[in-house]
Amino acid sequence: MSIRLRLTLLYSTILVFTLVVFSVTTYITVSRILLDFQQNALAEEATQILAQGVFTLTVIETPRGRIAVPETYVQVRTLDGEVAGKSPNLGSFTLPLSDEGLQRLRSGEAKAWTEAVSTGDGRLLVYSKPFQFPGQSAGILQVARSLAEQDRALGALKWALTVGAGLATIAAFGIGWGLAGLSLRPINRITQTAQEIGARRDFSRRVQYSGPSDEIGSLATTFNTMLTELQAAYRQVEQSLQAQQRFVADASHELRTPLTTIRGNVALLRRDPPISEEDRVAVLQDVAEEIERMIRLVNGLLLLARTDAGLPLRTEPVPVRPLVDEVCRQALVLADGRALSWDDQTSTAVLADRDALKQVLLILLDNAIKYTPEGGQITVTSAPHDGQVAISVHDTGVGIDPAALPHIFERFYRGDSSRSGQNTGLGLAIAKSLIEAQKGTITVQSELGRGSVFTVVLPRASLPPGSE
Ligand code: ADP
Repeated sequence: MSIRLRLTLLYSTILVFTLVVFSVTTYITVSRILLDFQQNALAEEATQILAQGVFTLTVIETPRGRIAVPETYVQVRTLDGEVAGKSPNLGSFTLPLSDEGLQRLRSGEAKAWTEAVSTGDGRLLVYSKPFQFPGQSAGILQVARSLAEQDRALGALKWALTVGAGLATIAAFGIGWGLAGLSLRPINRITQTAQEIGARRDFSRRVQYSGPSDEIGSLATTFNTMLTELQAAYRQVEQSLQAQQRFVADASHELRTPLTTIRGNVALLRRDPPISEEDRVAVLQDVAEEIERMIRLVNGLLLLARTDAGLPLRTEPVPVRPLVDEVCRQALVLADGRALSWDDQTSTAVLADRDALKQVLLILLDNAIKYTPEGGQITVTSAPHDGQVAISVHDTGVGIDPAALPHIFERFYRGDSSRSGQNTGLGLAIAKSLIEAQKGTITVQSELGRGSVFTVVLPRASLPPGSE
């Protein structure tokens, strides 16, 4: 059963219950009041009759004849219950008195006795009261009036209440059904939108809601917020899936090149008649270099895959001077004709993973050496930077073309200057991943033909005194 029908049935049932209670209470109250009124009138009449000793009827002349108002019937019984006399309007009819009434009146237990009795013409209200005229034997005076008028009025009231309650229930059901539909329409729209999104995977859809910000309004808002987040997450997943696919395609391509070279060289080595000794040495040298390049590539890919998966880095205060010192001394071996100097005055520390930072600095120094011709100058400096610490590697090398600058941190990107040789195009991508995993940044400034500056910025850390 739908919520709409359930809600409508619920408040229709409540309304029916309320109307029934109201109608029954009204009916009982009105019939009681009318009966009390008649009873009081009869008691009054009986008192008058007993006071005057006579029974008078108010008679009105009407065009149709004389009518007594109200039509009151009078009868006198002996204390034994025998009818002693009655008013002419009773004809052959005798006003009844129940045994219980007679008993109570006779014993004096009740001062008066009223009972409603049914006759062929409708109900009669009979009021009986004992009397004692001086010098006469005691008797029971009975005064009665027809309740037909009152019963007719009550019948009309019952009809009005029943029909009114029925009509009110039908109207309330109809209005309730409409209102429930109106209130639940946004929920239907949410359901419809959710179904459409599920079918078409269109997360740009939103629920159109312009009503008040009640429970349903906040449901619509929450649903739309959830859709916005879902859309962003879906886009992110899509992008990262595309990036992964690109990465796998690029990696396969990069691995195929050295493998193809190695296969060609192996074919040369197996040639019959064999190649000259001089060529053989050159071919073997080539194979060894390609294998070396493949190892570097695979190591780089592995590292990138691990940083992508959230490489667990252990950040701690790392003193800058000893680290720069160590890295530069290591790089000196490769410098080969380039001057390498570093600033060994700084005494700051950064919050970083020591091994990861060392690897980044080695990548930057390796590049600086690779892209700086002999006789060039390479300098490593460190300085405070906006409350953090900046470590820069300057070179006076070939510099980077402004068009290439936005791409140099991309995976497998290699500038013209490094198309050939052992370069993998992964160095700066790895450096960027490692630095970002340490909540740092890496930037570059370069001028073609004049040199480049790569700057790593990391959070500053305070060192316990004497710990360097
Ligand atoms: P690789 O050096 O293996 O090509 P990298 O990711 O380290 O890969 O560098 C990407 C590209 O950025 C290089 O191919 C090169 O064109 C450019 N590059 C990096 N460092 C420098 C530098 N210090 N001077 C000039 N160009 C550089």
